[in-house]
Amino acid sequence: MLLPVTAGINNEGRITIGGCDTGDLKSGYGTPLYIMDIATVKMQCEKYINSFAFKDFESEIIYASKAFCSLAMCQLVKQQGLSIDVSTGGELFIAIRSGFDPGKIYFHGNNKSADEINFGIDYKVGTFIVDSFEELEAVNEIAGQKECIQKIMLRITPGIKAHTHKYIQTGAIESKFGFGIQSGIALEAVKKAADLENIKLIGVHAHIGSQIFNIEVYDSLIDVMTSFMAEASKKTGASLNHLNIGGGLGIKYMPDDRPASIEDFAELVHNALLKYTKKNDIKIEKIYLEPGRSIAGNAGTTLYEAGTIKEIPQIKNYIAIDGGMSDNIRPVLYQAKYNAFIAGRASYLGEIKDGEAVGGASPAGSTSTLANFNEKKYNIVGKHCESGDVIIEDIMLPEARKGDLLLVAATGAYCYSMSSNYNGQPKSAVVAVEDGKSWVWVDRQSYEDLYMRDRKLYE
Ligand SMILES: *Cc1c(COP(=O)(O)O)cnc(C)c1O
Repeated sequence: MLLPVTAGINNEGRITIGGCDTGDLKSGYGTPLYIMDIATVKMQCEKYINSFAFKDFESEIIYASKAFCSLAMCQLVKQQGLSIDVSTGGELFIAIRSGFDPGKIYFHGNNKSADEINFGIDYKVGTFIVDSFEELEAVNEIAGQKECIQKIMLRITPGIKAHTHKYIQTGAIESKFGFGIQSGIALEAVKKAADLENIKLIGVHAHIGSQIFNIEVYDSLIDVMTSFMAEASKKTGASLNHLNIGGGLGIKYMPDDRPASIEDFAELVHNALLKYTKKNDIKIEKIYLEPGRSIAGNAGTTLYEAGTIKEIPQIKNYIAIDGGMSDNIRPVLYQAKYNAFIAGRASYLGEIKDGEAVGGASPAGSTSTLANFNEKKYNIVGKHCESGDVIIEDIMLPEARKGDLLLVAATGAYCYSMSSNYNGQPKSAVVAVEDGKSWVWVDRQSYEDLYMRDRKLYE
């Protein structure tokens, strides 16, 4: 699945999502437009819940809200039976306002402020994931003032490198996150947590990175973590039997990407739990997962209108779109690759099934050349004042025209949530689609929104 599962092509040759014609979405809501397919989000949530329903271990699936956080998205994952992970007071606030049961909120962050800790405890957040000794003391002290006992997990640095972009690796020894095992600091943190009166340590957490294709690293992770849990339990008397292995499962952005399925991931985790609880002699009661990208990523697409088409003979062809790095910073930030389709003239794709173009004259993103569509190689660039504002480099598409609708796939995670007002670009709207209906999840910003909080030159 690259596009949402509901994607198709209608009789007018336009791409549809959730039964909605992208041409109608453009006329109804304008572009750039984030489109979220509810069926795909539901399907991913169900796959996680069902595949991780083990007989021998309890499990809890926690949506990592930083991937895409809005009131409606929080409500949708809640409805699907997931818990939620927040990493700042802001995300926590949105989760609370969406009606999330605070007991199902997991509060992350490597530098929570006293205000954030106060806020979390006041709102009765279920579990804090504590990242430092300073935070252990602060949570204990603030919980003490409020005469309550705060449940926590410790974020552990397992010293494992996930093979992914270095900006999204988070489990290596040199990481800014967590307490290191190898240095003995993690063990000290367990001892300290056990001594503090207003804290109840329920387990350990690790998150090793994102967009992970090689799921074997989770096998090593479970080995390292269960071995640590066994050692820490013996040496401190703490009963550590809840293990949170974070998120990170990769998704398909390009036709050749082959991410592991949620089902295979679950099987690997299950086998690893059986193997390493035995090897390391520890009982695990409950496993927690924190998927973000693999819930929201393929459910989202971004619809743009092509403006200037610029051809520099023998050098490069450009399609300039009406958005860019303000609505999708990932190509600039991580050299992330995306795939796009001409949504308004999509017959060149043949058919779209299960989110994949099949049997078309020119399979999406392929470099094959087919004369009947007069294919050309393009760079799809944004409208920002930066040469680096490129969304896609070297994509083969039928000859583009001004006014074409372009649909960029797999933008449901880390695009809206990383969007900005750079160059005074109002943030794009998010619309949800399901069963032929569409409605707004987040309104498009207006120009007024751009200076709403500005003040005048002097008081
Ligand atoms: C970002 C993050 C996740 C989610 O990662 P994905 O790659 O989007 O699944 C989960 N847990 C923590 C602590 C994170 O920081």
